[in-house]
Amino acid sequence: MMRTMSKIIFGIDLGGTRIKIGLFDINGNLISKGDIPTDTSNNGQNIIDDIARELLRSLEERQAGLADIVGIGIDVPGAVLGHTTVNRCVNLGWGLVDVSSKLSEAMGIPRDWVIVGNDANVAALGEFFDGGAKEYSSMMMVTIGTGVGGGLIMDGNIIDGVNGAAAEIGHIPVSDDLDFDCSCGNRGCLEQLASATAIARMAGTADAKEAFDRAYAGDELAVKAIDTAAEALGKAMAAVACVVDPECFLIGGGVAAAGEKFIEKIRASYAKRAFHSSKKTKILRAKLGNDAGIYGCARMILNRYE
Ligand SMILES: [Zn+2]
Repeated sequence: MMRTMSKIIFGIDLGGTRIKIGLFDINGNLISKGDIPTDTSNNGQNIIDDIARELLRSLEERQAGLADIVGIGIDVPGAVLGHTTVNRCVNLGWGLVDVSSKLSEAMGIPRDWVIVGNDANVAALGEFFDGGAKEYSSMMMVTIGTGVGGGLIMDGNIIDGVNGAAAEIGHIPVSDDLDFDCSCGNRGCLEQLASATAIARMAGTADAKEAFDRAYAGDELAVKAIDTAAEALGKAMAAVACVVDPECFLIGGGVAAAGEKFIEKIRASYAKRAFHSSKKTKILRAKLGNDAGIYGCARMILNRYE
């Protein structure tokens, strides 16, 4: 039988409901992608075996063998220690799980072939090398979803800090006027004013999409909610620029898809507050959408050899 391909990299984005699997060549080009459901029953005990089975099936389908694997990058929605071990992952039901050991054992490959990263950081890595920030040397990504997450890349490296809390832009304090607590236990965090959840709350709508629809139709309360979110984002980003001075900011997540008008409002708020030398920092939209994770996972493997 003909061998259809040579060396490959797997990029696996492990989410709370789906596991996305991308197959890349050694230049980081996406060859194919697919997904399987995340089985969170029994504290997520089957997840690693499900992934291993799917990867082995995919190799067989391509008439490839274990020796063709250059590496497996995998991201998880939780804190990661030493690029191998997940330290508590509520969405998956996991406590301390050494993903590198478990997945390599299940596949029959060396442990150091498997690299693990935090999902927000890894998505930022994907956008930095293959998406919206491809042309830039450093980037702060701001992901607006249920919460507000972030990823900071300087000179091609993820900056995660000594406590894994670097780039947690969602918990920068921006307000003294709130009378309820953030999910983190503090009060006045950016996330309380700028997440999709916060926008819907302030606009009195079922979700952020409805808030944007109403704002674009001229609804006063919805306009005010979106202005408040954009103001708070610009304020926090101006603070970030004073510390790390990135070449660009990238806005990702469902809310970023709401459109250019929202990004314009963020730009205006940022320009009003930024330190003079970083006033012109670019604020752009992320490009890879839901594929940012698998691209970033492949990039973790590629970066190891560069
Ligand atoms: Zn907070």
